[in-house]
Amino acid sequence: MSPQPFFQVQDLTTVFETREGLIKAVDGVSFDLAEGETLGLVGESGCGKSVTALSIMRLVPQPPGRIESGRIIFGGRDLLQLSEEEMRHLRGNDISMIFQEPMTSLNPVFTIGDQVAESFRLHQGMTKSQALKASIEMLHQVGIPSPEKRIREYPHNLSGGMRQRVMIAMALACRPQMMIADEPTTALDVTIQAQILNLMNQLKEEIKTTILLITHNLGVVAEMADKVAVMYTGRIVEYAPMEELFDHTAHPYTLGLLHSLPPAATEEMKDRLETISGIVPSLLDLPSGCKFHDRCPYAFEPCPIEEPPFYRLNNRHLVRCYKYKGFA
Ligand code: SF4
Repeated sequence: MSPQPFFQVQDLTTVFETREGLIKAVDGVSFDLAEGETLGLVGESGCGKSVTALSIMRLVPQPPGRIESGRIIFGGRDLLQLSEEEMRHLRGNDISMIFQEPMTSLNPVFTIGDQVAESFRLHQGMTKSQALKASIEMLHQVGIPSPEKRIREYPHNLSGGMRQRVMIAMALACRPQMMIADEPTTALDVTIQAQILNLMNQLKEEIKTTILLITHNLGVVAEMADKVAVMYTGRIVEYAPMEELFDHTAHPYTLGLLHSLPPAATEEMKDRLETISGIVPSLLDLPSGCKFHDRCPYAFEPCPIEEPPFYRLNNRHLVRCYKYKGFA
């Protein structure tokens, strides 16, 4: 029997009650991660990536949202069965999350130095002066200029990009077993983005942090991820190891996403790529059958009728598309 994965999401469904009706933001999502592995969760905005992350952290605003079903297994426990207090402890200690909007996670009444140093003291048992020194070093590493001055400032004194870097510094200082990073570098310029991805990779090497990386950018995934799950309208449509996904892209939606990479990255793929026409459908009014069929250049008879199941191209590559019907 294969060992239990380090982290596992099984058949997760999260819904929101809206005035116009019930929407399924996450619909039957499953994936798993071995210790130290990085999974890239990819898709356009509104495809359910961030709601998946919030569901894992049990931070879906309720109401209007609620996790309808599924299991989230971490350290042998189902997170959906834990008490609120157990979850709070786990969020601070075992799983760190870097949000897209850092202002919601930084405490406005404490200085930057206090907040980063607190992470070092709590999670690495440092003294006050050691923690302060380590904070300056970490702020320097995430690209904050004059960190010895910045530590005395408050979150509102910093720009959005700077606050994002402070959040990343705090998350890294926790040395968490698992990190969920939701578009961690999207707001930052390319140089800082590369530095931060490097830091995350280092953490992965040093302490085997397991990372769930949420991004719309397949270029970032290529830098960081061991495997990839592509999401569309709340569902996973393709799931494969990173190199397999890039070398043998199967789902027409993934092909479209690859096309949006900078030209140099896709030169040799250009011949087999199509741009994605149309827009992501509203979750309140999803098309029948394959949810991608009205944008798909390969759509054929069965596509608008019934939603395709997963077909297994090999033992690690799954795709939800009728083009692969001959596969298991
Ligand atoms: Fe396109 Fe049909 Fe595959 Fe959907 S099932 S992605 S419509 S070919």
